[in-house]
Amino acid sequence: MLVSAKEMLTKAKAGHYAVGQFNINNLEWTKSILLTAQELNSPVILGVSEGAGKYMAGYKTVVGMVNGMLEEQNITVPVALHLDHGSYEGCFKCIEAGFSSIMFDGSHYPIEENVAKTKELVAICNEKGISLEAEVGSIGGEEDGVVGMGEVADPKECKAIADLGVTMLAAGIGNIHGKYPANWQGLSFETLDAIQQLTGDMPLVLHGGTGIPADMIKKAISLGVSKINVNTECQLAFAEATRKYIEAGKDLEGKGYDPRKLLAPGAEAIKATVKEKMELFGSVGKA
Ligand SMILES: [Zn+2]
Repeated sequence: MLVSAKEMLTKAKAGHYAVGQFNINNLEWTKSILLTAQELNSPVILGVSEGAGKYMAGYKTVVGMVNGMLEEQNITVPVALHLDHGSYEGCFKCIEAGFSSIMFDGSHYPIEENVAKTKELVAICNEKGISLEAEVGSIGGEEDGVVGMGEVADPKECKAIADLGVTMLAAGIGNIHGKYPANWQGLSFETLDAIQQLTGDMPLVLHGGTGIPADMIKKAISLGVSKINVNTECQLAFAEATRKYIEAGKDLEGKGYDPRKLLAPGAEAIKATVKEKMELFGSVGKA
């Protein structure tokens, strides 16, 4: 059964580790992530962007697939199904479809409007037992066609949003979606520290986890980050393994064209990436 992300993140913040959010794109992605979480006895958050939701034939299809898999594959670790960077309308659709967690990305609205819309969603999510992530200060890079400039959030605005009763808070601290450019300045730990001072127990979320050096990840966790989003890294691992299989001509040998064989190396590569991240984040054995 899907659970809200509240309990797993409260425990993570108190225990000084982070739970990974791994974005899914299809059945192979979902299966690889869930089986790895179960094997490592780790809580996990499955992220679904609005684009990926559309690609997977709609939110209800996603909920059906994930719920079926939890049951048929005997997944007993805590699993949250989370809308990633949701629009105001998208949040309502996912709540209706049966998601257990949502992110309302109101970072592009003026702060007053972000506050008003977040407040409304807090009331609905509390009533339904769904966890809610809010964002302050847009996160750099490209996500579903939306390009952010990689702002650093204002800690006072973070407190204002945290005080509305959201479950977890994503704040821009120089992090970027996708691959990091060679001239990247690194994370602003000063900002992260200031945000944690003002928001206390609130679990903080680090987006754009791909390519942030391990020591920076560990430092961010020590400063209150309890949820880390990983997306691009699984995509790169999947593509590389699939490329190797085809370049080696394996799809031309016997029944190597069978999709169950063709997609297997990519699925294994996702498992390896998820395992590596769960070990780095410290969530292994915390289910
Ligand atoms: Zn993000």
